[in-house]
Amino acid sequence: MNPQPESSPEKGLCPICQELLREPVSTDCGHFFCQACLIQHAKKALEEDVFYCPVCRKLCSQSILGAGYYCEVHQKKVGWFCEEKQVFLCPDCYKSPEHQDHYDQPIDKAIIHYKERIHRRIRKLRKIPVESWHLPKKKEKLQTLWKQIDSEKQKLKDVLEKQQMGEQGDTDPELLLDNLNSFSEEVTVLQHKISEEETKLNDLIANMEEASKQLNITTLKSVNDLLRRNVKEKLYYLEVNSSELEKKIRKLIQPAPLIQVPCLCQNTPSES
Ligand SMILES: [Zn+2]
Ligand SMILES: [Zn+2]
Ligand SMILES: [Zn+2]
Ligand SMILES: [Zn+2]
Repeated sequence: MNPQPESSPEKGLCPICQELLREPVSTDCGHFFCQACLIQHAKKALEEDVFYCPVCRKLCSQSILGAGYYCEVHQKKVGWFCEEKQVFLCPDCYKSPEHQDHYDQPIDKAIIHYKERIHRRIRKLRKIPVESWHLPKKKEKLQTLWKQIDSEKQKLKDVLEKQQMGEQGDTDPELLLDNLNSFSEEVTVLQHKISEEETKLNDLIANMEEASKQLNITTLKSVNDLLRRNVKEKLYYLEVNSSELEKKIRKLIQPAPLIQVPCLCQNTPSES
């Protein structure tokens, strides 16, 4: 026979959901449950004002269920959630003047409502990289800059080779190469910044998806913070730095390229 495993915060298993305890509460008899599981259990219990421990059937006081279930002030079960004050309300709280002008919803409805808000927010967040940050264009531009720098570097290397073979130009290829290398680094930095922002955004979306899945009485209050988490509307440093970089590169290679590949023909120009 398999005895029911004893529950404890150390063992970490909730006897109701058989998963790791989340926000554990302890009954008077010393059994541990996830707060949300115990609240669900107490709600289903037929008794109106009392409930029994699901493990040992001892009588428990409702106050252990916490604010998501029980109003300490009026000693009654809560039934509504006040979005404005982020508190749970019993019938007496609900009728009190303080909440008269609020749109306080039954808890189950509030949960559905918050889930919808989370999903709306996720849909908006997903549009940000393209619609607000214009990332595809920005990435393409950086890619183009990278290619330009690279082809200039290649030209310079040719120049350097010629110089080693004794030809002399009027530019300092070493200096130009240093410049180009620092431009390459700047492009890399900007590309890193882009992926950093993308990662941050994706993490937030993942958090919200998780929060929506886990949404229940005990996590309801934390949702507001999550919904308020801001995401940059514009990536200013990216705008500024990439156009600065573009200018610098253009100045170096256009309109009259400073870097001239020496003429490859062997005829020495006649000095007339
Ligand atoms: Zn549980
Ligand atoms: Zn018990
Ligand atoms: Zn109350
Ligand atoms: Zn209210």
